[in-house]
Amino acid sequence: MNGRELNGKVALVTGGSRGIGLAISESLASAGCRVAIVARNGQRASEAAEALPGEGHAGFGCDVADSGAVQQMTTEVEAAVGPVDILVNNAGITRDNILIRMKDEEFDEVIATNLKGAFNLTRAVARGMMKRRDGAILNITSVVGLTGNAGQANYAASKAGMVGLTKSVAKELAGRGVRCNAIAPGFIRTDMTDELSDSQVEALKGIIPMGALGEPADISGVARFLVGPFARYITGQVLAVDGGMVM
Ligand code: NAP
Repeated sequence: MNGRELNGKVALVTGGSRGIGLAISESLASAGCRVAIVARNGQRASEAAEALPGEGHAGFGCDVADSGAVQQMTTEVEAAVGPVDILVNNAGITRDNILIRMKDEEFDEVIATNLKGAFNLTRAVARGMMKRRDGAILNITSVVGLTGNAGQANYAASKAGMVGLTKSVAKELAGRGVRCNAIAPGFIRTDMTDELSDSQVEALKGIIPMGALGEPADISGVARFLVGPFARYITGQVLAVDGGMVM
């Protein structure tokens, strides 16, 4: 994909200021999109947007867990960048703990950001996409949502919830020309996985058939494919991008 198959499209990427979301924003900008980057830290979102290739990008500060703020931010994005053709629900957090020690706040915060956040954004842009009979939504879930993980009951539940959300949205909007898919990344080198110790990384390599952690670019190319015209007949799918961890 060396062309600009997404020329003139507007993409909104949550959590686009760092890590996987930044790589996806760069990839969509290279494909011709104007990109709205959303993160809690609006200044970092704006700096990331300014550094993207091409013109017309912008950054926005918003907590995706706050449905009122999401509604207002989406209106600002549509006024400043244009109606949203592509939504990437990528913003996500972890608050790991073993189940019996997990606090209400740790469970609620992760569900509110990862799952409710994706719902908030999807609801805010779906009406416009349906009216225009064109749109692509991509949810960044996790292999942990497919397999579960000790110490991540909150995170795994939020990511499994995103799988149900993806398939329900896909079924509801398919007849209106709007597709919805998900990527389930394995372990990818970002701030999120920087917290892992060297011994944890070595242990992980042992359970990854390809023997290495992935890079954000391993996800962003697949994201570009799934939201673009080469995937026009694909909806409701969850694609694991994980070096073979989940087969
Ligand atoms: P990261 O480096 O920690 O970046 C997270 C991004 O989300 C940042 O831009 C952050 O910006 C934004 N964010 C967090 N909470 C937010 C909120 N409430 N509202 C708006 N923006 C918010 O994470 P990453 O590793 O790139 O992960 C990206 C996604 O991939 C997440 O959904 C994660 O669960 C998923 N994933 C990652 C891995 C991995 O190995 N890295 C594996 C599987 C799935 P602010 O802090 O400024 O808000």
